Amino acid sequence: AGMHSDYLEVRGLSVEFDGFKAVSNVDLTLFQGDLRFLIGPNGAGKTTMIDAITGLVPATGSVQKSGVELLGKKVHQIARLGVGRTFQTASVFEELSVLQNLDIAAGAGRSVWTMLRRRPAEVSESIEQALETIGLSKLRNKPAGTLAHGQKQWLEIGMLLVQNASVLLLDEPVAGMSQEEREETGNLLRRIGGERTVVVVEHDMDFMRNFATSVTVLARGAILAEGSVAEVQADPAVQEAYLGT
Ligand code: ADP
Repeated sequence: AGMHSDYLEVRGLSVEFDGFKAVSNVDLTLFQGDLRFLIGPNGAGKTTMIDAITGLVPATGSVQKSGVELLGKKVHQIARLGVGRTFQTASVFEELSVLQNLDIAAGAGRSVWTMLRRRPAEVSESIEQALETIGLSKLRNKPAGTLAHGQKQWLEIGMLLVQNASVLLLDEPVAGMSQEEREETGNLLRRIGGERTVVVVEHDMDFMRNFATSVTVLARGAILAEGSVAEVQADPAVQEAYLGT
């Protein structure tokens, strides 16, 4: 960390399920501060790619974070190296408050001894900052189960922030959100981008158009196109891939 620029380098990433190649020889390089949209028709391999990077499914090839190989490491080791992800269905502790969810996330991966010795002021400062960033400061004492769908997604992102994830892989964060929630999420992504690397699996082209950023199109497990939103939208191969589903 510090002065060194973070990067995520995916090389020749492949995932097979019983001989079926869900992800096929994918290369992708992302630098600190990059916001990258990952799109593609259903079944293209987007979620499997995130699963492979975060250690949920076995894969071949190479995934390096700032020179450290992630493939072969366990889920919690990869999380500790600063690679965090969200799921399509937000996984928060419904009975616990927003604050308690963040507190648990902040302690995740640490030993009990470290958690007992941690300086409370230090922790709550980063949690305070995360609450601000995700816009849930005023709802901190609400049980997470009572939050709106969008707010749960933001809480999940907040949980990654307090874990100090520098690479965030967000699986369809705006799916099922209202227009207002989408706009809020756009602002949230702009707030957390810049210093972190963010990959967003997305379907909504209108949502993406508001970002001056590049898009990677996945189809049948392989990269089909890369470019600006306008470029990939105009690409006949991309149009065909979407029509084929
Ligand atoms: P996307 O996220 O782009 O919609 P997925 O990564 O979910 O695509 O799926 C890619 C392909 O891999 C699909 O054909 C899907 O059926 C298959 N697949 C995903 N997970 C598994 C699994 N655990 N076992 C077998 N096939 C799977």
